[in-house]
Amino acid sequence: MISRLKSTVFLCIVTVLSNGLISSAIAQVTTLSRAVRTAENSEPSIPRPEQERAVAQKLAALEKKTGKKPNIVWIVVDDMGYGDPGCYGGGIAIGAATPNMDRLAREGLRLTSCYSQHTCTPTRSAMLTGRIPARTGLIRPILAGDTLTKNPWEGETSIAKILSDSGYYTLLTGKWHIGEAVGMRPHDVGFDEYYGYYPAQKEITQSLDPRRYPDLVLDKEKLAAYQEMGMGHSLVHGFKSGKTTEVSKINSTDDMGRADRVLSDFTVKKIKELSQGDKPFFIEHCFMKVHCDNFMNPDFPGLSASKFAYKEGVAEVDLLIGEIVQAIEDAGQLENTFIFVTSDNGPQMDGWPDAGYTPFRGAKGTTFEGGIRVPGIAYWKGMIAPGRESDGIFDLMDMFNTTMTIAGAKFEIPDEIYIDSVDQASFLLHDEGLSNRECAFFWIGTKLMAVRMREYKWHMKVVIPQSTHLYIDMSILVDVGLAPWLFNLYIDPKEEKPVGHRRNAWLATIGAEAKAHLMTFKKYPIKDVGL
Ligand code: CA
Repeated sequence: MISRLKSTVFLCIVTVLSNGLISSAIAQVTTLSRAVRTAENSEPSIPRPEQERAVAQKLAALEKKTGKKPNIVWIVVDDMGYGDPGCYGGGIAIGAATPNMDRLAREGLRLTSCYSQHTCTPTRSAMLTGRIPARTGLIRPILAGDTLTKNPWEGETSIAKILSDSGYYTLLTGKWHIGEAVGMRPHDVGFDEYYGYYPAQKEITQSLDPRRYPDLVLDKEKLAAYQEMGMGHSLVHGFKSGKTTEVSKINSTDDMGRADRVLSDFTVKKIKELSQGDKPFFIEHCFMKVHCDNFMNPDFPGLSASKFAYKEGVAEVDLLIGEIVQAIEDAGQLENTFIFVTSDNGPQMDGWPDAGYTPFRGAKGTTFEGGIRVPGIAYWKGMIAPGRESDGIFDLMDMFNTTMTIAGAKFEIPDEIYIDSVDQASFLLHDEGLSNRECAFFWIGTKLMAVRMREYKWHMKVVIPQSTHLYIDMSILVDVGLAPWLFNLYIDPKEEKPVGHRRNAWLATIGAEAKAHLMTFKKYPIKDVGL
């Protein structure tokens, strides 16, 4: 490993102190980054020419055999915790078996250092654009009554558009949550077809649930005002042509409980149809569950040992993932389809007990591991060796470049755009693949909070709850004190005891990485869209 280390260089180490002032000192440090920047506007990545060559050959051989580009299916669960699936330590141990996700992990690649953003909209947009939310302006969930000052999609290119332009049929089923105004809908930004609900479950059901929200539902004036905000309760079917129809409406919590079954039946139907056509397909299937508020599907009660609504949701999502994969197999496409299963952020503990499980510190809304470390399962029969596991760093925004490589699609990155995504196709597809990502950078809003490099995590700012479980509803975002909080995640996965002044050899090099990252914002600045 030492041979891979770069030579000693002089670096200007900048420490951002708690009052926001920047102090700098010239220090002689050894940079331990193996990453190389190949263009000014692309994220540095670790070159792995041999595994890249081998995977390029593997992809070419498959295309020769099938005569077609591979299909790509992203499956995104909402707010599922790292510790919920059985293959991540949950499952039957915590009252909701997940045999389908467990099988995909067992027969594919299980990532243990897969990172999301801290909440829904930022993760979903980062996956589609390959860009850190501060650069797209999509820095937090768009909620009822939010008015944006500009369309965040202006100047952005989604992976769906790139694939659609490259001959793929692109479909998004389920939750969107990146705006519902014309110009911001999935079928406006690159998807050929959209079938789903724009907002999260709670945005829909809070006006339908008098037990949880009597002050809204039973007060006619407030309810009328809420309904005027126009939050979409509709199942929307849209096409790239602009044609958009309302299929049905959620009128009860029972309807909400049934929504994921309706959506996955649609995805299954489309897989059958599209498999018979000439075009390869890209499907992003986004579950409504298990974002609070969860309501069990009344047609399938008691799926989980626990019977609690959240666990019922996990069990149902797992069942439906099994059906989607089965549909791909039944259509004869299993060996020509890359499948990736993940969650868009850590569990939302504020809704407990309607909440998931993470073994880590923090939860949704924080940049501690509990908020951002999520399940990541890559499955591709014949292309990903069964039983692989890796703790290589993978940021969900890497799906942008990775998907492009798998699809053999081309995208000329405009000079004014910085792509934060790293191509990880060779990591995922090589039998002994190693991650191409050296560092992952974790932001909240327009603030860089923390950096992960190798097994180290370096915090400059932290979100601290002021009451048990209330990581969103009663927390504070604060600067750390004189020194960054540095944890070794191998010996302290719960981020409880900084190694700082006792074993701080890594502090300087991670600080240098943070500085280099922040420097990219000088030329490629943050975007403000009014969120
Ligand atoms: Ca979410």
